[in-house]
Amino acid sequence: MNFGTRLVRTGRSAPVEGQTVNPSVVRASTVLFPTMDALRDAQRRRDADERVFSYGARGTPTAFALEDALCELEHGDRAFLYPSGLAALSMTLLTLLKGGDTLAVIDTVYPPVRRFCRRVLEPMGVEVRFVPPETDAIVSTLGSVRPAAILLESPGSGTFEVLDLPKITAFARSLEVTTIVDNTWSAGMFLRPLELGADVSIQALTKYVCGHSDVMLGGVVVRDDLARSFYEFNEDTGLCVSPDDAYAALRGLRSLGARLAQHQASATTIARWLADSGDVQMVRYPALSDCPGHDDWRRDFSGANGLLSFALRDDWVAHTDSFVDSLSLFGIGASWGGYESLALSFEPGSVRTARPWTGPHKWIRLSIGLEDVSDLMDDLEQAFSTLAASHA
Ligand SMILES: *Cc1c(COP(=O)(O)O)cnc(C)c1O
Repeated sequence: MNFGTRLVRTGRSAPVEGQTVNPSVVRASTVLFPTMDALRDAQRRRDADERVFSYGARGTPTAFALEDALCELEHGDRAFLYPSGLAALSMTLLTLLKGGDTLAVIDTVYPPVRRFCRRVLEPMGVEVRFVPPETDAIVSTLGSVRPAAILLESPGSGTFEVLDLPKITAFARSLEVTTIVDNTWSAGMFLRPLELGADVSIQALTKYVCGHSDVMLGGVVVRDDLARSFYEFNEDTGLCVSPDDAYAALRGLRSLGARLAQHQASATTIARWLADSGDVQMVRYPALSDCPGHDDWRRDFSGANGLLSFALRDDWVAHTDSFVDSLSLFGIGASWGGYESLALSFEPGSVRTARPWTGPHKWIRLSIGLEDVSDLMDDLEQAFSTLAASHA
């Protein structure tokens, strides 16, 4: 079946008469058993890694349905859920690393991960090495540093550099380096990292999967060889998610394909229009041919989302914040992946540490929502005119 059909069918049980379309929200702490023997049997099966509905913290049927869907869509064996995307990232690192290990991290990583490395991993004795978002630099760092694991994100946060993932994962595998990929950008739809040789695929389901800016949720997909480590870590730390949030993610999945097609169409139109504007010096959108790694994107990804970044022309860069402030259809706020358009300014040079940033110092990131694209372009046009009038 094609992806769109699978989005509709996955994570639902076979239809029986009188059954609802969607899995139920099952709220639970206690789960009852008829006898002590039955309770002990559930415990035994859990100890053998079987997923058993035995206590709320060990997962509910609603959470299991979402885990099944994530596994099917990303071609993994086991999925694990976390209370946010950042929790999925940080708990994955705690699951896989111990004091004395070295972790390589892509310099375009989701920025809060840096703080986690500094405040949690480094005091534990994990050495963290940031690497530039370029395939050759990553391969050479893997060879010289031989880290226990590498955390990648492609396209990178904010500036959207695309990596040659098959080349990196093949080399990492030959050195027994565990490859972790933050797959939030692709929404699990445009890229399947496990198929390209990665060991762990992570998603902030908060973004496109939930899709309505009202849920925090993270997901991790792995193959059987790593499942036990994740299962035990989550059991030991009591990590679990609300069945209502799992339900919201399942509901979001059903329209993911339709929403992303619209996000991509509108973002492509706006990216091309900005690239042709004399008031913009640079646009980053992986589907544009001049985006770093565009050829790798064409080979490995089946589409692009609604995120793009651009820098105003040089003499306007200092007024980037007033440009953002003058937009009216774009909200100003963190996160992305909802149905509504958002804008933010950011400074790549303020977070990069592997190599000094040499491009324009201030950028605007747009998350193109599901509004009519001509209204969004009118709003951007209006902001350009406002800037032109005050800084002619
Ligand atoms: C937003 C984001 C996260 C974190 O997700 P939260 O659910 O907000 O914690 C992780 N990775 C990427 C690439 C993100 O954009």
